[in-house]
Amino acid sequence: MKIMQLYKKAFFVIIAILCNIVIVFGQQQPPDPLAYNVQPFDVLHYDVMLDLRQSPPSRQTNGICRIYVVWKENPEKKVFMFHLRSLTIDSVQSNGIKIESKVQGKENEATFHYTVAAPDNAKVGDTTIYTVWYKGIMTDEYGSGSWGGVSSSDSTVYALGVGFQANYVSTTQHWMPCYDHPSDKATYKGTFLVKKGIAVASNGLMKKRDIDDSLSQYEWTHNYPCATYLLTFSAAPYMIMEFGDDTLPMMVFARRRDTSAVRTSFRLLPRMAATYSRLFGEYPFEKIGYCLTQKGAMEHQTMIAYNTSLAQSKDTVNPVAAHELAHQWFGDLVSPIDFRHAWLNESFATYCESAWYEELFGFDKGFITNQHTKSLTYINTILKNEKALPLYDYSRTAPSSNYPETIYQKGAVVLGMLRYAIGTENFYKTMRRYLQTYSYRNASTDSLQSIIEEVTGKSMTDFFRQWIYQKGIPEIKVIHKNTDDSTKEITISQVQNAEYGTYTNMPIEIGFVRKNGQPTLYTMVTVNKNEEVFTITHLPTDIDRITINQGPTTRTLVRVQSIVDITSIAENSPTDDDMSISPIPANGFISIKIHNPQYNGLSIINQQGTVFPWNNNTISESDTIRIDTRDWIEGLYFIRIDYPNGAISKPVLIMRD
Ligand SMILES: [Zn+2]
Repeated sequence: MKIMQLYKKAFFVIIAILCNIVIVFGQQQPPDPLAYNVQPFDVLHYDVMLDLRQSPPSRQTNGICRIYVVWKENPEKKVFMFHLRSLTIDSVQSNGIKIESKVQGKENEATFHYTVAAPDNAKVGDTTIYTVWYKGIMTDEYGSGSWGGVSSSDSTVYALGVGFQANYVSTTQHWMPCYDHPSDKATYKGTFLVKKGIAVASNGLMKKRDIDDSLSQYEWTHNYPCATYLLTFSAAPYMIMEFGDDTLPMMVFARRRDTSAVRTSFRLLPRMAATYSRLFGEYPFEKIGYCLTQKGAMEHQTMIAYNTSLAQSKDTVNPVAAHELAHQWFGDLVSPIDFRHAWLNESFATYCESAWYEELFGFDKGFITNQHTKSLTYINTILKNEKALPLYDYSRTAPSSNYPETIYQKGAVVLGMLRYAIGTENFYKTMRRYLQTYSYRNASTDSLQSIIEEVTGKSMTDFFRQWIYQKGIPEIKVIHKNTDDSTKEITISQVQNAEYGTYTNMPIEIGFVRKNGQPTLYTMVTVNKNEEVFTITHLPTDIDRITINQGPTTRTLVRVQSIVDITSIAENSPTDDDMSISPIPANGFISIKIHNPQYNGLSIINQQGTVFPWNNNTISESDTIRIDTRDWIEGLYFIRIDYPNGAISKPVLIMRD
């Protein structure tokens, strides 16, 4: 997903993105995420029918949902739980027999759900069909008007599968009863009854049938397992635009007024799909779909909810469409076992934006430039706004909430670093094996780490600890000097918060900029210690300055605090010859003659050791300073001059006649 108010700004002012986003959430204690992961049941299939004859923007509905559940264990404790929010249950049947459902918790709590008993004689492996009749007005998440649940505007009623408040469950429960946790995938059929002229977009493949002169029925069938947060529908007076071919249908549901812009914005969609298929394995579902909605974008499986204003932009690069398409592999084909692992979705989809730029503009101009922007955005803006967060199991408090920008921008750059660490070929091999191993199922951060270790034969423990499990980023100070005309000694010191420890295996790209403006030279060094000295030889003799992390190889997520050239400072270490004072002893004015003009300041120190800084305004480029001592008490004083690389002080004796 991409929070769209954010991305719109990003088109114009990439640096300013996050400052302006204010999403106010009611804060709740998240439930134990693991409490949902293991259940005695497994949902196989949802068959939902929604009556939308009231027509958008009305969110009034009557629904019937059949839930096919198989029992996995422990007959006596068997209870099926399902989520449904803001809608009233008329009745529930278990295998055709009416049963009672029990309310669990309060409706304003994330854990709110219903339970129904298993049939008395149910055994492990048996399937039970629960049918829920329900009705009411579908709502967005807690009526927050932001994301999640069912929204309506501009003659469109649409569902977004995740929200900002529900921490460990999703928001599909705002339109259909379901076990709304990402760990349980099921196939899906959605049937929607609408007035003629309204089209409904949803997951899978579509069949449309006219019931009579005034009503149409849209039947969507998705035969691939799908996490509930990836189910969706959107109803509006849509036109259906085709972009694909017979082998892979690609469709965009757009309003008539937007069709011309959509034709331009989605022109490269087939190439986008081909690019990701080449990198990650064949597109894993029946079709590619986008439907234009007011809020978005959200990577619903085979039917992406896509922000209308983005589609109107006529930007053929369309990086948000690329991001959501990449989610079909990262998030949809392989879903996180729970949302602590949401970086497995967002970091990868955001990395794939850089990969899409690479396809269009090449490695340097596309990939590295895009990674550079993400890295700067993270270091200069997001880190300040969200504070340091880890990629895995971050704190879900404001302003980060469920989807902090950290897991997008920091995550994308960390994956770029992973690519550098294991090499491009291994990186994509790893990604393909990860997707293949967990396809149509769920994975965790551990799953990914083991696959990388399996492919590369290298331990990834340090990499995962430093960049994924631990919050914060390294910070460095760089000092360099010439030891001869063509050799530089570069000292890199790690100065980050001590709790982050010392980063190891950290690639740093040093650039050497020449005085004559000729192209910069780059060299890679690997930092393993708190302070490390690198000697670079055979350099051109006219190096003007050095840069860090600006080159064409990779972007390491590191904040560079300072880069200081001490070559000239070392040459100008102060000596006693740099200052002379007269007369000694003195009674009136003293003259201080300064022979080395690169000083920072002058001060007078009395016998008690009190330091009086001399007013800098009176220090000019002139090499002689006159000071009136007539008010000074008799005695011994010191005049001190500070230089960048030290200080010298000399005594002066004040004697009255
Ligand atoms: Zn995303």
